[in-house]
Amino acid sequence: MSKLGILHDARYKQHITEEDHPERPVRLDAIKAAIDALDLPEPYTPIEPVLMTEQQLQRVHSASYLTHVESACRQGWPNIDSPDCPISPESWDIARLAAGGTVKAARLVAEGELRRAFCAVRPPGHHAETDRAAGFCLFNNIALAARTLQDAYGYERILILDFDVHHGNGTQHTFEHDPSVLYISLHGHPLYLYPHTGYEDETGEGPGRGYTVNIPLMPGTDDDAYRAAFRGRIIPEIERYAPQFFLISTGFDAHIDDPLGNLNLTDETFAWISETLVQLADRLARGRLVSVLEGGYNLAVLERCVGEHLRILGK
Ligand SMILES: [Zn+2]
Repeated sequence: MSKLGILHDARYKQHITEEDHPERPVRLDAIKAAIDALDLPEPYTPIEPVLMTEQQLQRVHSASYLTHVESACRQGWPNIDSPDCPISPESWDIARLAAGGTVKAARLVAEGELRRAFCAVRPPGHHAETDRAAGFCLFNNIALAARTLQDAYGYERILILDFDVHHGNGTQHTFEHDPSVLYISLHGHPLYLYPHTGYEDETGEGPGRGYTVNIPLMPGTDDDAYRAAFRGRIIPEIERYAPQFFLISTGFDAHIDDPLGNLNLTDETFAWISETLVQLADRLARGRLVSVLEGGYNLAVLERCVGEHLRILGK
């Protein structure tokens, strides 16, 4: 078996959203098609997700928020906390399965069972706050993975690199006081794009000052400008920090053909990002890298770019 793990489970489609909602179950069909078409040097290892318990969820989320989500789902509310957070009765379990699967992938990489992993989960996570759902997200999958890596394995320097076109407000807020997590986000400028946070002067709080790095990009930013920002700002920051573990919030909505984003990246830049991060993780963190799906709403783009992302992770 290869050292690449892939988390993909048909149950993640049971988090039902309206048919015209961009974050819809069929996104995972596009990703499944990419996985089925993979031609890797060695077969990947499938990751079997587990349900995250309420106690484990409390590493990031408040007990009152968990009660709120569970009862809203069980009572059949159409959405939670804001109209753009649709839920269905199954969402309580499916969101716990997304968080539990992501944490399991991180554990397998921490334990050396896998070298890298990709988690094709729904609902996504990076907008979810400690006590509030937001931006299609219920539980912050990647934040839960980082907290677990700290608590269970003692990691002192974890990188969360977020290249979804939207700022990961929930992830930033979870770790803004914590220098043991470096949060770096490139995203569409908050003046023009949801969630309207992630200004350059948001750099962390108290002991966490300097460990939050926001790189807002103007609408229409193209491949060259994006890569220049990545090379000039992000790579030196990562090298300086020397993370022991790479967690990646992987969104494909900065693509020029994405219906929600406003940046102009092409497929080639997503492949370049993947190559760059894999090389950095190999050099700095013994290869340890877990990539977690966030956004990306053009199905054809999703299929092509996830396929290429996995080909690079599976080398
Ligand atoms: Zn997004």
